[in-house]
Amino acid sequence: MKKLIIEARINEYQSREANPHVPWLPDEIARDAEACQAEGASIIHFHGRHADGSPDHDFLTYEKTIRAIRSQSNTMINPTLGYVTLDADAEERLSNVVALSKDPETRPEFAPMDMGSVNVDWYNPEEPGYRTKGLIYKNGTDTLEYFAQNIAAHQMKHYLVCWNVSFIRQTLAFMDMGLLTGPLPFLIVLTDGTMLAGHPGTEAGLDAHLAFIPPDRQLEWIVSNFNGNLFQLTEKVIREGGHIAIGLGDYPYTELGQPSNADLVRKVREQAETLGREVATVDEAKEMLGVG
Ligand code: ZN
Repeated sequence: MKKLIIEARINEYQSREANPHVPWLPDEIARDAEACQAEGASIIHFHGRHADGSPDHDFLTYEKTIRAIRSQSNTMINPTLGYVTLDADAEERLSNVVALSKDPETRPEFAPMDMGSVNVDWYNPEEPGYRTKGLIYKNGTDTLEYFAQNIAAHQMKHYLVCWNVSFIRQTLAFMDMGLLTGPLPFLIVLTDGTMLAGHPGTEAGLDAHLAFIPPDRQLEWIVSNFNGNLFQLTEKVIREGGHIAIGLGDYPYTELGQPSNADLVRKVREQAETLGREVATVDEAKEMLGVG
């Protein structure tokens, strides 16, 4: 079986309330990236954060973070475009990664494209009630076309993100139109707990996606669980040939105490080794994903 790619999703917009090990600042992110790579991660996904944890969309923060990461490790880099915290037009959303791409030293290997739109309000099942009511993660077809063309034009690789089956259908349409070409990383975002935007983080939730991913399209499927414990699915993913994206950005994993991102990566690697599946190095993962 092909080797397992592990991606570390180290921070998103998570607080440090439940687990203080969420990295926010460039040097913290770089140290975490190095530690995660040492345990087997070959891709780092990060969001720029201010010292108080709020979203930081400044180009200089991204530039500083990538330089810091690369001074310590050679992991592939997958920065955010800002998720719902950057409600802007397509050009502005892509402007940081386009600027970063001008210098090979700061050019990320990937720029993400979420292949559709979805309500991402926070729900409290205990009340029950919604804590937010207007958060729409908007990725219009015109925006996605702009992203597809400009990510390729600036020598980065598309990193596709999928919240439900309609996102797969739009991905296949873009492949048919020649806007996207495999091999490509394809992140399946399952969601649990206070987030209802994706399929549940269960076998049935994942299988519903997999039923619609044609094996001949070279979509390297990767599984994450936003707001849920991914370990309920890691054995299935490892056995079925998928890849794993895990980290404190998605979930604080307090069932395990207060683990670091590197602890989570190590646990995935050890499980893969126990199940007889080797973990890909950065160079091996690059080859599998057609990077560089
Ligand atoms: Zn993210």
